[in-house]
Amino acid sequence: MFAQKKTSPDIQCIEALVPRGLIASNKDLLHAQITAEGLSPLRIFFRQGVITKFEVIEDPWQSSLDLLLPRLVEPHSHLDKAFTWKESPNLDGTYEGALNANLKEHQDRTIQKVRLRAERGLNVALKNGIRAIRSHIDSFGLIGSNSWHALEELQSEWKSLIDLQLVALVPLEYWNTQNGNHLARKVANENGLLGGVISPPYKNSNLREKLFKLFSLANDYGCGVDLHIDESSLEPGGGLRQLICVLDHMKLDIPLTCSHLSSMALIAPNPLRVFAEKLAHYEVNVVALPLTNFWLLGRNKKNTSIKRPIAPINELQKAGVTVAIGGDNVQDPWFPAGNFDPLAVMAASMLITHSAPWSRMGLTTFTTGAARVMGLEWDGTFKIGSSADFVLLEADSWSSAMAKPPSRKVMINGNWI
Ligand SMILES: [Zn+2]
Repeated sequence: MFAQKKTSPDIQCIEALVPRGLIASNKDLLHAQITAEGLSPLRIFFRQGVITKFEVIEDPWQSSLDLLLPRLVEPHSHLDKAFTWKESPNLDGTYEGALNANLKEHQDRTIQKVRLRAERGLNVALKNGIRAIRSHIDSFGLIGSNSWHALEELQSEWKSLIDLQLVALVPLEYWNTQNGNHLARKVANENGLLGGVISPPYKNSNLREKLFKLFSLANDYGCGVDLHIDESSLEPGGGLRQLICVLDHMKLDIPLTCSHLSSMALIAPNPLRVFAEKLAHYEVNVVALPLTNFWLLGRNKKNTSIKRPIAPINELQKAGVTVAIGGDNVQDPWFPAGNFDPLAVMAASMLITHSAPWSRMGLTTFTTGAARVMGLEWDGTFKIGSSADFVLLEADSWSSAMAKPPSRKVMINGNWI
């Protein structure tokens, strides 16, 4: 049941079960009951769209309470190719098959097609309780420039509902061309990020030179970088090793995110720890993408594959790296499922990563860690003074919220949408 009360003409309150880890310690809340899953029955008061007070519900079990979350984020998606599985399926589910289908479909992209896909994605994401999306956009050539234009229009139209961050995804060497330089200037002017793909084979790839060029451009234009790196089972950590080598020799003045880092999990424990510490030292953020990695990587033609490379989330967190989990592809050649639903990603990740939302480190990948990776004003918690932006789930525990994607109501600035 959804519980909302009006306490005076302009003060409203919601009674709900709230993850205690998302509320800063407050002496007034110390005596609140807490369930085994870390949920406390609280009243959250808000006025004119802003949280003003938290209060303990003294007799919580008199009525049934639902689980309340802040609106969440999607730190890694591809809105320009979402929902293209039907016309561009990749039935064998391999990385190579996905890339070929993607490149073929890219030839037929138009502003209208990209706009329709992205708008559909934004609508679904909004209803699912997402407040911000970082989307990589295939940005090379005229088709890429058209896609960028379509997303830029949507970014402005959706500003009050979803904070949309755009990453220019191009082959890494593109940043070493005149067109690449123009694109970087344009992206920087529009507060976007520079992207690229780093995947094996690494021999004779001149990867360090390419990274040096990309980071120099990013430093010059002052825009962040988000890389697809080591999304593979081959040459474990090969891209990461060269990235660290570049960071050892140049100072980065902008935020850097490594998306995927899947094959890092296949490195031996000691070097893995050293790499994780280096990433923490250089303040490199990581976005783990367990769903697409589980689908595309470590395939075995004859037998069921047991070994699946995904970012080593626990080891990275232990070293002090900020980690977020994203959904990545939605119904496109890279992943046939997905629906911009952070609760569904959370439920699937629970199986794959063994981290659960009732643990502090399990929840941070969807809240505080994800907000930090995206550099949002919102810090990932419920806080006095922050917007009354909530997702109220029709679920009275984490278990029931994870059992199936729950029905939900979404509030933005104190208003239900
Ligand atoms: Zn991606």
